[in-house]
Amino acid sequence: MIDTYQNYSLKNLNSFKVDVYTDYYVAPKSLEEIQEVILNIKYKNIPKLVLGGGSNMLFTSNFKGLIIHPQIKGISIEAETEDNVIVKVGAAEIWDRFVNWAVNHNLGGIENLSLIPGSVGASPVQNIGAYGVEVKDTIYKVNTIELSTGKPRVFSDKMCKFNYRNSIFKNELKNQYLISSVYFRLSKKPSYILDYGNIQKELKNFKNLNLKTIRESVINIREAKLPDPELTPNAGSFFKNPVVSHKKYQELINKYPDMVSYPIDKNHVKLAAGWLIDHIGLKGKSLGQAGVHKNQALVLVNLDNASGIEILELAKLVRDTVFSNFDVSLDFEVNIY
Ligand code: FAD
Ligand code: NAP
Repeated sequence: MIDTYQNYSLKNLNSFKVDVYTDYYVAPKSLEEIQEVILNIKYKNIPKLVLGGGSNMLFTSNFKGLIIHPQIKGISIEAETEDNVIVKVGAAEIWDRFVNWAVNHNLGGIENLSLIPGSVGASPVQNIGAYGVEVKDTIYKVNTIELSTGKPRVFSDKMCKFNYRNSIFKNELKNQYLISSVYFRLSKKPSYILDYGNIQKELKNFKNLNLKTIRESVINIREAKLPDPELTPNAGSFFKNPVVSHKKYQELINKYPDMVSYPIDKNHVKLAAGWLIDHIGLKGKSLGQAGVHKNQALVLVNLDNASGIEILELAKLVRDTVFSNFDVSLDFEVNIY
């Protein structure tokens, strides 16, 4: 029988370090243990939530249900061609350890995603992305277990409906499947993506251009700019960058000529939400013990024992102030529970 814990603290299991408890907590180590838990009559009719590294979650109250924290590990090469390898990775592997493994095996595709916190199992959920790369471009298929039945189901990359910081697992199938492992297609002949942010500039500090120096460059840039959740609890970008119509963009750029934006296609433009928040003077501001980070306005931080409600109130204040100033809606990227 798998160990279950009652009234279990989540404080060290969420990167905002919010002090909340869950009614029940289990950490299954195998597919069989996951199924044992799901099929246990005791948990049949209570809410279930899958937890990874807790780095994209905000708990606003105690969780009235069962937290399942899968512990399935392992990285194995399953198939190989002249150009690619297919690698199977357990959900509980730490994302950045997998990136390190790939780079050390000279396999390309995820090096720009270095140092993103969290687990491999969560990587498809919001289609993690950074520096011009999204994980969807390397995902081949996703192994899951349905939380209501315990039945296994395999999702091809198409079935995952990947989108900008989004997938079927964050939308119509939110909280319905546990991802047990992910298959990635990594390249033996990688092409580098270097035209984003400060990567080129940072690479000038290295003699050679290869997967290792790209990874090191990304790590250096991120460490210089982003707050370390161990020291300043946060969940990364709280808001997604909004995508607006070209007409709306024209309206705004006429009024704010220095506004930061990036074209998406002929009809759409992505606005830098950080610029909008900074422009209205909210960067570095706080509400109670919740704050907008001083270097990166997209990131909300727990200054000292903030409650989830306090952080959510600040997020709403930022969202509403951006809306009243620019008539642009910001969506939360962080999952609220
Ligand atoms: P959790 O926070 O535990 O869970 C997130 C969601 O996924 C929840 O809905 C949860 O139920 C679900 N989930 C988790 N594991 C599973 C599973 N095995 N099966 C099914 N559902 C699951 N994100 C980016 O995209 N790009 C970045 O550059 C980036 N930078 C960040 C920097 C910092 C400092 C921080 C704190 C966060 C950053 N993030 C970034 C957000 C975060 O790292 C990612 O969203 C990450 O994938 C979350 O992983 P996790 O294991 O912590 O997920
Ligand atoms: P940055 O480089 O200062 O860029 C600011 C914003 O502009 C980013 O949000 C990025 O959008 C966008 N951008 C920059 N160059 C771009 C280009 N060439 N084409 C299109 N869009 C461009 O951002 P940062 O805060 O230091 O973050 C760097 C990268 O890490 C970004 O990709 C960011 O998404 C990622 N990151 C994500 C999180 C998270 O929690 N989600 C947290 C920290 C960092 P995109 O966000 O769409 O890339």
